[in-house]
Amino acid sequence: MEFRKLTELDITNKKVLIRLDLNVPLKKGKITDDTRITSAIPTLRYILERTHKVAIMSHLGRPDGEVMPEYSLEPVGARLAELLGVEVVFVKDYAEEPAEHVLNQLDRNQIILFENLRFHAGETKNDVNFARHLAQGFEFYVNDAFGTLHRAHASVVAAAELFAPEKRAAGLLVEQEISVLSTLQKKPQAPFTVIMGGSKVSDKIGVVLNLLNHANYLLIGGAMAYTFLKYQGVEVGDSRVEADKMDLISQIYRNAEARKVEIILPEDHVCAASFAANATPIESQGKAIAPGLMGLDIGNRTIKRFTDIIALSKTVLWNGPMGVFEFDNFARGSLRIAEAMAKSPAFTVIGGGDSVAAANKAGIASKIDHISTGGGASLEFLEGKILPGVRVLLK
Ligand code: AMP
Repeated sequence: MEFRKLTELDITNKKVLIRLDLNVPLKKGKITDDTRITSAIPTLRYILERTHKVAIMSHLGRPDGEVMPEYSLEPVGARLAELLGVEVVFVKDYAEEPAEHVLNQLDRNQIILFENLRFHAGETKNDVNFARHLAQGFEFYVNDAFGTLHRAHASVVAAAELFAPEKRAAGLLVEQEISVLSTLQKKPQAPFTVIMGGSKVSDKIGVVLNLLNHANYLLIGGAMAYTFLKYQGVEVGDSRVEADKMDLISQIYRNAEARKVEIILPEDHVCAASFAANATPIESQGKAIAPGLMGLDIGNRTIKRFTDIIALSKTVLWNGPMGVFEFDNFARGSLRIAEAMAKSPAFTVIGGGDSVAAANKAGIASKIDHISTGGGASLEFLEGKILPGVRVLLK
């Protein structure tokens, strides 16, 4: 898959439109985690070393086509100004009047930031007229919004298509993400261990089936594990089970057997009588969970088994928490997996918002080789799909 890269464009003194994913978490107008902004800085610096005529666009949250002040990108603009040492000119009315005139009047130390794209219904509808307003007056298009490449939205697809193919490219973050994820898909060093968790088998089936082509071990935790255990005839009490997904599990086992992938399920659990942060944790004695209890985390024996496998692996990919890590009483499994990955000499990759949050909670994120900035996008990529935002950048 050959896509055009920013480093292949000659953007010297040119007018560049940049799509970023600056969708940061905000609390009372304050940014609580600026990872997505700092991840975009290398691309921005690269561009600003060559031209100052740039505009940045991004979405934030899901305002669904309405102007909602709590989703304004203004705090993001302030942080960008700090990090880049430039003045950020905030443009709100680009949907009525293209920002071309503002662009032509920019001083050397000024850049444009468009207000939240999703304040306009045209964005998620991939509306060409809306895209024209975004793109008018620009000569090059750069997409570094890895987390939104799986969305066929106006700023990702329709706007890109308004530029000649040789004038659109992927930024440095997208290049790096795709390079790592492609390695996992094509030539990971063995043993390759895939750890899957989170809530639903149905969300991850495509990824699991695709990764079975290359993995040696598939470790299953989180609520997903109870559907697997149920399929095996194990009593799982009141744990969350997707009873209508047994055919998917059977397909996974068939493929795993054909490709000699070992699937490893939890051997014990941390259970509770209710789904609540203050529920009393009860350790199960084995695989089975008694009626009236639900499994909310993997138990100690499972942690040991999983961490032993991580230690002998050369490549490890983790997506989805091992339990309800948002509740401290049921976070241990996810934290131990994060720590085991940090200690492992293997090439380690974490994708998916919740497992990344677990890695941050464990304080080990800096020891992971690659943390994907896009949960949904990385999963769809690993399923083997060509993401709409990548398709428009192909050579
Ligand atoms: P996902 O978005 O599919 O990766 O799922 C993440 C969510 O799964 C988190 O909010 C977890 O709290 C939840 N989860 C993980 N393990 C369990 C479990 N055993 N029972 C219920 N929910 C779980």
